[in-house]
Amino acid sequence: MTTTLITGATKGLGYEAARRLLALGHTVHLGVRDAARGEQAAAALGVGAHVLLLDVSDEESVRAAAARLAEQVDHLDVLVNNAAIVGTRSAVADTTADDLLEVYETNVLGAVRTVHAFLPLLRASEAPVIVNVGSGLGSLARTTDPERMESQLHNLAYTSSKAALTMLTVQYAKAFPELRINIVDPGYTATDLNGHQGTQTVEEGTDAIVAMACISPDGPSGTFTDRSGPVAW
Ligand code: NAP
Repeated sequence: MTTTLITGATKGLGYEAARRLLALGHTVHLGVRDAARGEQAAAALGVGAHVLLLDVSDEESVRAAAARLAEQVDHLDVLVNNAAIVGTRSAVADTTADDLLEVYETNVLGAVRTVHAFLPLLRASEAPVIVNVGSGLGSLARTTDPERMESQLHNLAYTSSKAALTMLTVQYAKAFPELRINIVDPGYTATDLNGHQGTQTVEEGTDAIVAMACISPDGPSGTFTDRSGPVAW
């Protein structure tokens, strides 16, 4: 039985990834910051879904969550760092360091906190896997390619947070060769994150997440992919 933790699993891509991984036989711990909404999600997902209170922007919350999970399981096979916020949509000239800090607390430092706190449980797995949910908006190649829609957006906080998460993925993959650690771009998907303007369904948006969550121990590490294949850095 594969034991999986997904941060930000109450809705959107995290919830859909939980639904699909449960269908594939995983036990899924839903990382949620609101207990009532977490219980609702777990009840809707059914057998095998468990709630784990976890606010990735709060060091103490992440540490407590790791301690609580360690009381329930002796290892963690898959960690999906999915929780993220968009933050400010203000013009570049009006964006402040505090605006970036707010987004980085969740999108960048949240992933670092979570990896750090859950690493002992991951290392106890026979085939540990981390999937970081990045974005094409964090790809330098895409954001500088006038043919790509990612180049049309002018934004400091979210885009740079996802670029940082990409580099974290590469560094973690180099540091922990015994783990499979990859970053994926879900693609532009209709969720609350973009006011449901995304053009993909959540099922399409979770294809790359699910594929990398199910990667075999001899699979790649330190890669950046979307549902169609490799993403240029
Ligand atoms: P979403 O519907 O807004 O869901 C975001 C999830 O993250 C929610 O469950 C939210 O919890 C959770 N979250 C936010 N801050 C958190 C915190 N501090 N601690 C714990 N959980 C937190 O967004 P989504 O579209 O599913 O996004 C999922 C991932 O895909 C993100 O990493 C996003 O950057 C990435 N992505 C999305 C798209 C897209 O087009 N949708 C494209 C590329 C990448 P609450 O329910 O409590 O708010």
